[in-house]
This record gives sequence, C-alpha cells and structure tokens, in this order.
Amino acid sequence: MSLPLGATIGILGGGQLGRMLALAAARLGFKTHVYCPDPESPAFEVTPHRTIAAYDDEAALAGFAAAVDVVTYEFENVPARTATFLAALKPLHPDARALAVSQDRLAEKTFIAGLGVPVAPHRAIHAAADLAPALADLGTPAILKTTRLGYDGKGQRRVASLAEAEQAFADLRPHPLVLEAFVPFVREISIIAARGADGSIVTFEPAENVHRDGILHTSTVPAAISGATADAAREHAGRIAAALDYVGVLGIEFFALADGNLMVNEIAPRVHNSGHWTEAVCVTDQFEQHIRAIAGWPLGDPARLADVVMENLIGDEIAVVPGGPGPGVRPHAYGKAESRPGRKMGHLNRIDVKKPRF
Ligand code: AMP
Repeated sequence: MSLPLGATIGILGGGQLGRMLALAAARLGFKTHVYCPDPESPAFEVTPHRTIAAYDDEAALAGFAAAVDVVTYEFENVPARTATFLAALKPLHPDARALAVSQDRLAEKTFIAGLGVPVAPHRAIHAAADLAPALADLGTPAILKTTRLGYDGKGQRRVASLAEAEQAFADLRPHPLVLEAFVPFVREISIIAARGADGSIVTFEPAENVHRDGILHTSTVPAAISGATADAAREHAGRIAAALDYVGVLGIEFFALADGNLMVNEIAPRVHNSGHWTEAVCVTDQFEQHIRAIAGWPLGDPARLADVVMENLIGDEIAVVPGGPGPGVRPHAYGKAESRPGRKMGHLNRIDVKKPRF
C-alpha cells in the first residue's frame, strides 16, 4: 500500500524526534497527527493534529487510529498493549515485533546473535546468585545493565568486583538484568538503515560517535574506519532489518574493535540522534527516509554531499543558536520551553563546506 499525498501520518511521542518526523512529513505533502501525554511536547508546535492522552487510554487511541492512515513512533518504549491495540486498527510501522525485540536488551542480543551478527559477551542475571558465575565467565570490569527502559547511559553500572556487582544488582530495577563483558572498543560507530515496504534496504554512511556524561555529544562522518568495517556495518544492519521484516528507519550502535571487527551494542527501531547529520548533508535525510518507508513510497537517495560533525546542544548550550553558530554551521533548535541540565535542546551540524572559488 502506498499512501497518497495529503494522507495523515500518526506519530506516537511528541519529543524532538517526533517533531523532526512531522517536519519531514509536511515537506512531502503529508499531514501529521501527534499523540503524546505531555501537553508541552515540542512536536505539537509543528503538527496540525494532536491528541494529548495517556498511552493506555483506549478511547483516545481509537480516536487517533481513526484519524490517521498509518501509525509510527519516535521512541521504543511504546507499551506493548498500545502497539497491539493500534496495530489491530491501522498499519503500525515498524511493527510490534521490532518493538518487542528492541525493548529488551536480552531479547535483542539473543535475536541479533542468532543472525550471526556479533554482540558483546553477556549473561542473563535473574538473581544475585547468577552474578558470581557470570563474572567468572566474563571477567572484570563488566557492565551490569537493566534489560528494559535504559537510555543515555541510565540503568547501567560498571562493576569491578562481586561486591560491586551485588550492590548494583540491589540498586538497578527492574530485574532481570544483563551482565556484559567490558568491550575494549577503539571507537563507537552507528549506522542508520532504512527498509522499504518492498523490502529494499538503504543505509547511510556510518557515523563515529563520542559520548559525554552518557549522552551523545558528537557524530562525525566519515568515521575513521576502513571500507571493510563500513561494509560490515551495512551488512549487519541489512541482515537485522531483513530478519525483522522491518519497515522504516532503524538505528544500530556498534563497538568497533582494534582489529576492525564490530559488535552490536544496541538497536533503536526509530530515527536516531546519531543520524541527525543526514539532515544537513544528505540528499534524503533519515526523517524523510522513515516517512517514505512507512508511507510505502520508494526510498530516497542517501548520498552524502559534504563531511560533517553533528554536535548535540545540551541544556544552556542552546544559547549558541540565537547567539550565532558561525560559518558552515546549521543549527536546529527543538523549541523546548525549558532548558534543564542534561536535556537535549537542539543540535548543530558543522558542515565542511567546499567554498566556491571566484
Ligand atoms: P548503552 O546505554 O548500552 O548504549 O551504553 C552507553 C555507553 O556505555 C556506550 O555508548 C558505551 O560507551 C558504554 N558501554 C556500554 N556497554 C559497554 C560494554 N559492554 N563495554 C564497554 N563500554 C560499554
């Protein structure tokens, strides 16, 4: 099914990703309807239709479904019941399986490893008694993580001993947890892939990511990796997207090892912060690509026109936008009313502009 111009895209979640999806949809001639419980959602500023309701409000969900032609989302923690409820009424892309796999670190690792794509060595931790044998297998340091609801480095603890692991097990919720070997990566990269309704797969170039205080700080393209490593990232992404019969954009984070091999850290069934660079330097950006995929349209050209560094603006760093970001810099502010420490307020794309010669 291919949506006509003027159709309505339903978006669950009203944060900056929902906002950028709505902007891309508008540029392609679609209308959007954003559903979010928070009346202050940044995406509400840029959509003609909105629903302010809880994700378990079935009357509101039914009304939303009746008003849209397709449903997508901007965050992977859409409750499973919400996804099933909506999917019975309208096409949901990516589907409930993509959500289930990516909502649970253990399910995700098991699924990805089952495809022959490497993940960090890990063990499921259901009880404190599981810690000692897991540490013996994986060595120290190791990282104890919640399986659900972790983001931006939250819900995880680096542990160097059994005592530390036991303390972290007592602190971290909900159980079960997953213990991961500490991966001695030389860099972190990510790739944004898109799979169309016809099964075609398009990948953007891998980005090299640097985190600060657990939050993405910069994404640099091109990444300092070999062509073979970049090809492996594309190959892994394509395999995961195909196995999920995925429709939409998918973000995949990898650890790159000294020998050039990759391990998947995690996947996100949505547009991704480390793909914001595409907005400034690609023929088709990740947001348009996602809208095209869920609309059943052919995917666009992901070609990159310039080298770029995307930099997140956290908290008061947003002041650079009105203050003058400088030559070659394209700013994007998310329109959030309140700046708080650690809050993603916007981003810059520093474009390596090829100056015309006169
Ligand atoms: P995550 O929330 O799983 O993406 O983890 C946040 C960050 O913690 C990653 O981007 C890495 O920098 C670091 N990290 C997570 N897991 C590991 C691991 N198994 N080994 C080494 N570093 C890790």
